[in-house]
Order: sequence, then C-alpha cells, then structure tokens
Amino acid sequence: MIREAWRSLIYPELLAAKRQEVVPRRVANAAASTDQRRQSAQPTLYTPQRLGPQRNLISRHHSSMVVPECSQSDWCSLLTDLPVFCPGSGPMLVLAPHPDDETLAIGGLLCAQRENNVPIALVAVTDGENAYDGYAGLGELRVREQTRAASRLGIRSQDLVRLRISDSDVGSKQSSIVQQLLPRITSETHILAPWTHDFHPDHEACGLVARELASRTSARLTFYLFWAWHRGTRALLQGLRLEGFPLTSTQRTAKAEALAFHASQLHHPSGDPILHGVHLWPALLPFEVYLPS
Ligand SMILES: [Zn+2]
Repeated sequence: MIREAWRSLIYPELLAAKRQEVVPRRVANAAASTDQRRQSAQPTLYTPQRLGPQRNLISRHHSSMVVPECSQSDWCSLLTDLPVFCPGSGPMLVLAPHPDDETLAIGGLLCAQRENNVPIALVAVTDGENAYDGYAGLGELRVREQTRAASRLGIRSQDLVRLRISDSDVGSKQSSIVQQLLPRITSETHILAPWTHDFHPDHEACGLVARELASRTSARLTFYLFWAWHRGTRALLQGLRLEGFPLTSTQRTAKAEALAFHASQLHHPSGDPILHGVHLWPALLPFEVYLPS
C-alpha cells in the first residue's frame, strides 16, 4: 500500500520524463521550463502547514513539515543554462548523512557512473534512526531501504560503508570520520558530499568532513544539495558556480524506483509523510545540480 501510494505520485512524472528528449548542453533550460509548466498544471498533492522559520534546526518529526521558502518555479528560473557537470572516471566516495540523501540528491549520477563501471564507495554516515519518534527499529529499516535503493542504482552492498554515527550527532564526530575515511582516499578520488550550507547539521558536518578530506589528499570535491532547495532562497545560491548533470530516461527510472525503496520517509503511521510531494521535485528533474568546490 505504501509503495502504491508512492508510485501514484511519482509515475506520472516518470511517464512524462520518458516522453521528453534529453539534450546534453541546454537540457537544464528546456527541462526546467517543461517541469515548471507541468508543475503548474498539476493539482496540489499536499496541504502544507506554515510553521514559521526553522533555519538552523531541521524538523525531525512528521508533524512539523518543512515548508519551502521558494517554489519549484522560482528555483527553475535560476537553473537555466547551467554548464554541464562532468564527473570524470575516477573512483567516487559519496557521503550520505542519512539513508535516502544519496538517492534523492545524486541517484541519477550514481546510476550513470555505475553504467560506466566507475567504482563507488557509498558512505552511510548515520542510519537515520532519529528521523521521527514512535517507530522502534527505524534505523534498521532505513538501512535495509538504503541497501535496496543503492542496489537499484548499481551499488553493491559490499561497497556500502556504514559508520553508524548517531543520527543528528555527526558534528561531534567529524575528526573521527575524517580518520576513518582517509585511508580510502587518494588524489584520484572524487568526493561527493552535502553542501556545507545545506541547512541540516548532519549535512553541513558531512560537507566539512569532505572538505577536510579533500584538503588533505588533493582529491576532487563536489557538493550536492537537498535541504537548500527547501530552506534556502535564491539569494543563497545566486552567483555560485552550479553545474547540471543531465539524466537519461533510464537513469531517471532507476532513480525513481530507488526512491520508492525509501518508504519509511514517504509514509508515516499517522498517514503524514516525512518527505512531502513538495520536497521531491528536485529528485524528479531530468538533471541534477552540483556545486564543484
Ligand atoms: Zn539527510
């Protein structure tokens, strides 16, 4: 039932995506306006409750939905004509603060890189056990969901590195995480991590860890965004050198199906999901946005 509810939300987008031709260089521009039109034509899929600014403390409970500061159409007008992001062929090390971050933000890129047999180590920093209260075994459930989602994107379970840091406590463990990951990184490694201003303490801590790792090893570093789309404003990103990575319909399908595995974030026993439809549009675009450091 959970899966069916999610599919009913996501598959109209997928069907539309399959009809859309992806053109590498100008794809962001065309896709943004297409999705903008599609969004405005759709009925509202959620009923947000405005809870006031919560800039520095992310909501962990299902009853406190994060209401975006900016609409999809506002963002998409900023994402036109992005230069194309070239990930290269070096081995990737991906920092995911919580299970689902990797799928939501960079699932298409992960799929594309695995299509080219690029080695990927997916570092699951926490098990996401504190996403909400009242569900015994949530961490174990999210680990299983992430493993299945990663597999759908082409990442083998043995390439998942679980650090088991407490959810919401990554900031106090930064030094330890750096020490654990340093042996896995060379100057050939491409590190991907949440942006250091991604509006969630765990995300920002992972960004700082990644910056330290890159600084010590001369590895390439690229940031991705998730909460910035929902808690940030255009002024925050204006002037940053964002790049777009166009996705094929195959990659978008894989990403959407991987997202469906994260059912615990798309549904709650109360019926109110953690991630509402309004939070999912960045994951449904035919391109992903990256910030090279
Ligand atoms: Zn997260």
